[in-house]
Amino acid sequence: MKLKQCPDFELSEELKLIQKTARDFAKTEIMPSAAADERARRVQRETIAKMGELGFLGCPIPEEYGGNGTGFLAHVIVSEEIARASCSLGVTLNTQTMGTSRTILEFGTEEQKAKYIPKLVAAEWLGCFAISEPDAGNDVAAMTTTATRHNDYYFINGTKTWISFAQVADVGVVFAYTDPKLGHHGMSAFIIEMDCPGISFSADQEKLGWRSAPTAEIYFENTKISANNLLGKSGQGFEIMMRCLDNVRLTAAARAVGNSQSLIDESVKYATQRQQFGQRIGQFQMVQEVIARMVVDTEAARLLTYRSANQRDKGIFNNTLEISMAKYYASEAASRIADDAFKITGAYGCSGQHPIGRLLRDAKMHQILDGSSNIHKMIIGADALGFRRANR
Ligand SMILES: Cc1cc2nc3c(=O)[nH]c(=O)nc-3n(C[C@H](O)[C@H](O)[C@H](O)COP(=O)(O)OP(=O)(O)OC[C@H]3O[C@@H](n4cnc5c(N)ncnc54)[C@H](O)[C@@H]3O)c2cc1C
Repeated sequence: MKLKQCPDFELSEELKLIQKTARDFAKTEIMPSAAADERARRVQRETIAKMGELGFLGCPIPEEYGGNGTGFLAHVIVSEEIARASCSLGVTLNTQTMGTSRTILEFGTEEQKAKYIPKLVAAEWLGCFAISEPDAGNDVAAMTTTATRHNDYYFINGTKTWISFAQVADVGVVFAYTDPKLGHHGMSAFIIEMDCPGISFSADQEKLGWRSAPTAEIYFENTKISANNLLGKSGQGFEIMMRCLDNVRLTAAARAVGNSQSLIDESVKYATQRQQFGQRIGQFQMVQEVIARMVVDTEAARLLTYRSANQRDKGIFNNTLEISMAKYYASEAASRIADDAFKITGAYGCSGQHPIGRLLRDAKMHQILDGSSNIHKMIIGADALGFRRANR
């Protein structure tokens, strides 16, 4: 019996074209200045604007809100290609598309969607999403920021930290307790324009990697916002945050895959040029063994990521487990690959001028962000043991 070919393992012609467009853009518009931007800690707002023009920020966003509706797999493919050139610019796919636009799309009123999403997708406005606080990292419910209602306004008080693009953002999705006594059920989400009186920022935070993706603390001091800026219902914040995190973690997995691919690109380039003992080092079997592991690890991470995105495109949104597998595997793979790439490129790799240094620093970041590897292992392990209350 002849089986029908499984379409999920082959990209459609449309997706291949999106991949090529993103790859060409990354090669010509991002790669040439990536190293200098990282050294100068410079955000390339013009490059983000071009990404907006090309539709890169609007894949899982319907056309009526300025997106192109090409879907989650298209988003993942674009994220991978952008991160292959620069993980810092890869962060934009989280801040513009998933953390803000997509969260507003899933929970916003018609008015909120029409007001904010088209501007974010076009990169006319920059966005951020703010969950983390000095004492609330992976333990998101430990946050202490509050939103207190008086008539038609909320007053926000608290400090957010490590917020990507905070100090350059025009708008943010911000989480706070409207009723701390209710625990998870007392958390709410807000859309906040970042030029409101009562908002200030720290200086750019020093980072090991992703140095041209700025991060800052945000200080809210009696920041007065209209009750119309509540996203979803009062008390729905934790649910909104979990949905938001599933989406940003998918982008994070794709970013790690892009990072791994660029580590392979550099390792292959070096191993086919560098000569020792009368031959190219790539001809030594021990180097081939390392390259083989890198390639298989990256391909496995890519397939896990594509599968999770494909599920979302099919309307399967309760795939937290599969997204955790993709994010965990892709993050750890990037770190392993960075370690091997560093060894392959030897002294030249650590010279400071060679891209491996930047790629290695970037690779370590995936393990701690968007849910640390431990958090994802807890989800995966608890599920396998039957301890997890599955969301399906
Ligand atoms: C560059 C950068 C950009 C960021 N951008 C944003 C952003 O845009 N928006 C935002 O809201 N946040 C952002 N963050 C914050 C990021 O999401 C947090 O760093 C992350 O949630 C982890 O928190 P933490 O680093 O404080 O680690 P902690 O939670 O303090 O964890 C430290 C260690 O303890 C382990 N650990 C913690 N709890 C457990 C547990 N229950 N079981 C086992 N091990 C555990 C962790 O795995 C980790 O190894 C960013 C951070 C960085 C560095």
